[in-house]
Amino acid sequence: MLCSCGVHAHSPPVRAGVEAAFWRPQSRKKTPRNNKKLIGITMHPQYSLAYAQESDSRDSLRLFREQFYAPYLHGKRATYFLGNSLGLQPKNTQEEVLKILEGWANFGVEGFFLGNDPWLSYHKQVTPLLTNIIGAKEEEIVTMNHLTVNLHLLMISFYQPSATRYKIICEAKAFPSDQYAFQSQVRLHGFDPADAIIEVYPKPGTALLSTEDIVAAIEKHGDAVALVLFSGVNYYTGQVFDIAAITAAAHKTGAYAGFDLAHAAGNIKLLLHEWGVDFAAWCNYKYLNSGPGSIAGAFVHERHLNNNTLPRLEGWWGNNISNRFKMEENFTPSPTAESWSMSTTPIMLLAAHKASLEIFATAGFDHLLEKSKALSAYMFFALNHINQPPQKFTILTPQNSDERGCQVSISIHQDAMAVFDTLMPLGIFADWREPNVIRVAPVPLYNSFEEIFIFADTLRQLLK
Ligand SMILES: *Cc1c(COP(=O)(O)O)cnc(C)c1O
Repeated sequence: MLCSCGVHAHSPPVRAGVEAAFWRPQSRKKTPRNNKKLIGITMHPQYSLAYAQESDSRDSLRLFREQFYAPYLHGKRATYFLGNSLGLQPKNTQEEVLKILEGWANFGVEGFFLGNDPWLSYHKQVTPLLTNIIGAKEEEIVTMNHLTVNLHLLMISFYQPSATRYKIICEAKAFPSDQYAFQSQVRLHGFDPADAIIEVYPKPGTALLSTEDIVAAIEKHGDAVALVLFSGVNYYTGQVFDIAAITAAAHKTGAYAGFDLAHAAGNIKLLLHEWGVDFAAWCNYKYLNSGPGSIAGAFVHERHLNNNTLPRLEGWWGNNISNRFKMEENFTPSPTAESWSMSTTPIMLLAAHKASLEIFATAGFDHLLEKSKALSAYMFFALNHINQPPQKFTILTPQNSDERGCQVSISIHQDAMAVFDTLMPLGIFADWREPNVIRVAPVPLYNSFEEIFIFADTLRQLLK
């Protein structure tokens, strides 16, 4: 077996040139299964390093941080607040991917059927790890393709406009890829995006959308609405949308409701099945730490699974496993959401996905959400503390903790770019959105209260 040589035990990620400055060998200690009660921030948070460190010491999930590789700067682990963009690499990923390479080396194509983890049923180890994160039944989940591709495939099924019912209702300034998908789908059916796509805007002078305004827009267009398609968490503001209310409003007008969960999956509590969502798609490289360009996910509600009138683009991987390899002329759909799958699963990507989901399972998703709330509460406390009048920035993300995940979007009033440019050399990884927004996402698996304090205090000094 390849791995008996232990290559992966001390092999760093491949790196070169300038990137080498970031690298320092990092240990791969095992973290014990979490079964302790997590203690969040206290009733009386304080703006001090000591308080932040004390909160970390009471955090039963604190050791999970050691299960991730992180960039190092000046010999110190950087504060990585970019889990909303590309989650860090779990230390067990290389091992899982190497197992697939081993199977390929040892068995060739027979790896589909042989070895400890035959590839043909490999997804069965993955889907159960997602049910709690997505709030769905196993049969409603399929892991395939990439996010934008999955949005398109699901819109082929759920956006079937007629001459009178052809509109798509979405949030204003949706993520560009989503906008391109909506526009091209509308044109594919011979409609004009300017007429068919209805964007819901925040009230003038505000950054956030109210559920009432979303529902009002759906009601206003009524019979003309074919599809309501929102994100679960807006990528720019970090606002969580009320998926249940939007779904109910869409269904009331006779439209389908779909969601892009790129910034929601692994970040907030989701109950897609219970909320009656028709379909959803998400990527796994943000909060779900499955690697750059990782295999993505899709959800189709149980009630649509055996609906033969729903159009769908089909391929052999969506055919029922029992006769998939009989190479028959007619497609017999798998009885699950896997019937939307078309091509051979990229097993190496699925292995990286599985490695990450196992960490979520060990930590417990509900524990992670609880810690996320505590981190986020401390971030808001600290930011509000340093932003006494005259205010130097505006927090775009809702102050109400039920309306946000872990991302905080900060609109800086002066010299925003200069502030941003200073953060990375100081070892704080944040991201920039035009025209003046810095986004930071403290995630519960590998960020700490201390990092939040240091970020806030750095910002305080930079904005003096
Ligand atoms: C990250 C993100 C994408 C990216 O799509 P890919 O197909 O994975 O490249 C699309 N939509 C939203 C809302 C995103 O946040």
